This record gives sequence, structure tokens and C-alpha cells, in this order.
Amino acid sequence: MRSFQHRDYFFHPCGACGAAANLTRNSPAPGGRERRTYECRRCGQVDVYDVAADSAVPWIVVDGSPVA
Ligand SMILES: [Zn+2]
Repeated sequence: MRSFQHRDYFFHPCGACGAAANLTRNSPAPGGRERRTYECRRCGQVDVYDVAADSAVPWIVVDGSPVA
């Protein structure tokens, strides 16, 4: 059974259109965080987040400027 956390790992709402964006890259970030790159297949938006190990900490948007 997949938990919500597991599902959220692979999908995150697109910052531009709100559709489910796919996790395309995951790499270590300073402070024990993870840098996750999500790409939206609907509009092409790419959002990059720094995610803390503690799921209660909000994600930090590293890059996610709206598509023109
Ligand atoms: Zn989108």
C-alpha cells in the first residue's frame, strides 16, 4: 500500500498550472536536504525544490519561474 508521502515523492502540483508534475531528478542538497526537480508534462514547467528530511518543514522553491 502506497502512502501519501510516497505518492508525493513522485508527483507534486505544478507551480504554473497545478497539474501533477513528475519527479525527474533527485540529488543531495546541503543540510541533509534533497533537491528535487519536477517537470510538468502538461505545460512544461520545471520546478526545483529543496526538501528537508523532516516532512513537516515546508519545501523551499529553488527555481520555478512561470512559463511565459
Ligand atoms: Zn504545469
